[in-house]
Amino acid sequence: MTTKAPIANTVDIGKAASAAFLRLPEVPALFRKRAARFQRLALGHPLEPFLRFMGRLAEAQAEAVRALKPGGLPDAREIEAAKADGLPPLGGDGLLEGSYWRGVLTAILKSVADGDVPEETRQVIEELNKEAPAILDGRARAVLSDDVPEASRGAAVFIAASLQVRWAVAASMLPPEGFQPLEDGRRCPVCAQAPLASTIGPASEGQSTRYLHCRLCTSSWNYVRIKCAACGSTEGIAYHGIEGTDQAVRGETCDSCHGYVKILSTEKDQGLDPMADDIATTGLDLMLAEGGWERASANPFLLTT
Ligand SMILES: [Zn+2]
Ligand SMILES: [Zn+2]
Repeated sequence: MTTKAPIANTVDIGKAASAAFLRLPEVPALFRKRAARFQRLALGHPLEPFLRFMGRLAEAQAEAVRALKPGGLPDAREIEAAKADGLPPLGGDGLLEGSYWRGVLTAILKSVADGDVPEETRQVIEELNKEAPAILDGRARAVLSDDVPEASRGAAVFIAASLQVRWAVAASMLPPEGFQPLEDGRRCPVCAQAPLASTIGPASEGQSTRYLHCRLCTSSWNYVRIKCAACGSTEGIAYHGIEGTDQAVRGETCDSCHGYVKILSTEKDQGLDPMADDIATTGLDLMLAEGGWERASANPFLLTT
């Protein structure tokens, strides 16, 4: 046993090093935690009804993961070949194939409709329940490419929630090793989508503990601590928070591209969730927009850029 120990340690260190670059999602735990975070943030919040609805949607996502058999993954050899070429193995719209994502949608619609929902939302649910697969796939492609018409935004919330489950379940099944930064780290190495927000935790062993969070597959990847997540500039970076708050969520703005990405401090609040806390801080988005800053990537549940 003793002679084997150093070998085992070496393997462990190798795994830890690759895990430090990429954190694949744990489902359904991620959606359950998110649901709880939405409900906690909703208390006394000006957007309370919407945050409570989002909490129920996250709970419905967790239930769909538990209830349905996961759909297929791309072939293992294709995944390895993509990683070796520095390509995102879950990029594009290949995961729309098969019926799994639409099964997730049906389950989510049913969960939400079982509760109290405003008439307007009930109509959207009924409409989606009647739509043909080809129409739903078209809606999904529009969400994936950030090209949702104004009139379809209510439906897009349910589509986005279902796609997130589809991609997160697939990402959770991938071997975590061998991923490479995509576009200098500005895109998700797993699915090539833009980051929703970033988190920063206490530094350990001199390493940056900043992570960008994918808005689709919900993976997180390590990123330079002070660097624009939209254009990659390291100059002219500033941080803006709302005065009178604990500033756990701030906007990281960039003079080069005039964009911003939110940065959430887990040192200040360990319960932060990139999705729930992004939606609960739309006041910060308004403040930054007034200052002339543009949000770098849309939240698929708000579809604001
Ligand atoms: Zn991703
Ligand atoms: Zn920039």
